[in-house]
Amino acid sequence: MTPLELARQTLMQLSKSHSPPTPDNYRLVYNEIAGLEAEDNGTVLSKALDKVLNDLGKDKPKYSVAAQKISTLVKKHDSANLEKHIRSLLPVGAGDADSVNWSTLLRYLLKQLDLNHNGITLSRKKEGLSRVLINFANDPNQLGQKIQSLVTSWGDGQAVMIVNEDNAAEPVSVEAASTAVQEGALNTHTAHTVDDDAQHKVAIAWRDLLIRTITLVVLPQFAEIPAALSRIEALIARAQQSNTIEEVNDVSESLKSTLLRAEMQTDSQHRMQDALIQMMRLLVSSMSELTVEDKWLHGQIAIVQEIISKPLNLDSVYSAESSLKELIFKQSSLKPGLIAAKETLKSMMSTFISGLADITESTGTYQIKIAEYQKLISDTEDITQLNDILRSLVGDIHTMNADAQQSQSAFLETQKKVEEAEKKINELTTKLDYISEVAHEDFLTGALNRRGMDEAIEREFERADRHSTALSLAMIDIDHFKKINDTMGHSTGDVALAHLAKVVKSILRSTDVLARYGGEEFVILLPGSKQDDAVNVIAGVQRDLTKNFFMHNSERVLITFSAGVAERMTGESVDAVLPRADAALYLAKQTGRNRVVGAVRP
Ligand code: GH3
Ligand code: MG
Ligand code: MG
Repeated sequence: MTPLELARQTLMQLSKSHSPPTPDNYRLVYNEIAGLEAEDNGTVLSKALDKVLNDLGKDKPKYSVAAQKISTLVKKHDSANLEKHIRSLLPVGAGDADSVNWSTLLRYLLKQLDLNHNGITLSRKKEGLSRVLINFANDPNQLGQKIQSLVTSWGDGQAVMIVNEDNAAEPVSVEAASTAVQEGALNTHTAHTVDDDAQHKVAIAWRDLLIRTITLVVLPQFAEIPAALSRIEALIARAQQSNTIEEVNDVSESLKSTLLRAEMQTDSQHRMQDALIQMMRLLVSSMSELTVEDKWLHGQIAIVQEIISKPLNLDSVYSAESSLKELIFKQSSLKPGLIAAKETLKSMMSTFISGLADITESTGTYQIKIAEYQKLISDTEDITQLNDILRSLVGDIHTMNADAQQSQSAFLETQKKVEEAEKKINELTTKLDYISEVAHEDFLTGALNRRGMDEAIEREFERADRHSTALSLAMIDIDHFKKINDTMGHSTGDVALAHLAKVVKSILRSTDVLARYGGEEFVILLPGSKQDDAVNVIAGVQRDLTKNFFMHNSERVLITFSAGVAERMTGESVDAVLPRADAALYLAKQTGRNRVVGAVRP
């Protein structure tokens, strides 16, 4: 088709489709009929721009953003903003980006050499300069940039490049130098031009910030712990002598464990507050529930007053909580008159038996039997045994003569009372068990009970994850404990348990946790300790136990234990760590007892 024919067909098509004969519509239809690519110059240009910007955007995302913006403005035909936007992308004061304006730079250098910069002597300036000259003598462009950044690092200005003659008017200052910056040059070079002096300045700023933070925020948290206080003061002294980034980083690495302890310190204060509130609630509820006698009220108030008068710590508050609970328990057992009931029962039975003795005085056999019963009754402290004695006594009475018949019914009456008292004891024991259950502490040893242990494990595991610090768990079991019970009695066994807990507590750090896992088994949590350190701590407890025995019937009783220690792997649950510690404990028992064995890592 000739161009003339094409034009004719285009006009016909336009009139047929009732499209307005605008140049754009004409071009569209013409291209269509001629089979040409339906693309105008504008589209070609916009596509090219888009490609260039998107390519640049791979390194500098701001260009991808610009590409999108431009494409939107093109679509909207918003030529005014389009022009503005494209201009904003061009470097300010375009020129040769890489050329260094030496005359400006040297004037700037001379001036800054003479100026007084905080903490930087002239000889240090010269030293830095000569280093740059030696290192970059063969590369004039790099040399210019390095001198530039060295000089600006003396003052408050940033490392910048002087490249444009027009902006190099006198007087040259950091500010003036900064305005002479070419954006392209800045992006290409500044990241690499912070030299040693600049790093020194950063290190000093970072160090001072660290010292201020330790002094104002960390130190006060340990005001009452002299050992920690001196450790932190040593850390501050070390920080003050640090001059390089590496040294400052070392200090902040050492600070990590202090920060962990600081957090635990705050945490234990919170728990102390919770325990206090819990204690107050108990006090108030017991006061309102009971018919308050003056003496009782004074006793409870005296305890609280004593606690409040001393500096608070978690141990004293927990033990106050326990003693209050015990008091409440005693009060509640006094109410139905448990102790009194026991005494009354005993005296009733004694009176009755001596009456019986009078009746059966003639029969020698009964006389002897009754004397035995009397002794049994006065010896026993246990109401359950009392009931057994009564039962066999009643059995004997069956065979007694008719005179005793009347007394037998009185006996049965007494037996009923004993049974009631026994029931009461059971109720009170259940109540006591409940009280133990809601408490955090085990009454016998003062270690955490299972409930307290579960809470501590959850808390410490979560903290170890948050701070990415180590945590180890030890499981200990007393050796041949059955033998202690068998040879010295169960109550001496109890004393041994309490003794062990006391020794362990005296060795552990205040942030370590001791819990009674069950019977004569304990679990120790050592936050911040790696397995080998934890093994050493537990071995230390073993050594201490050999020096710290307790006395039974003026004999020294030595107790030993076996232990398994496992370090928790990041994110590991207690169900995974505990069995590893337990397996190590088993191995310690198998290989001779009185040993500490580290667990095999998973
Ligand atoms: P091993 O060295 O193998 O551990 O020997 P062991 O005798 O200690 O054996 P095991 O651990 O199995 O025995 C634990 C004993 O501890 C059994 C139990 O009577 C006693 N026991 C558990 N709880 C208490 C308690 O609260 N008080 C007292 N006195 N004894 C307890
Ligand atoms: Mg055991
Ligand atoms: Mg044992």
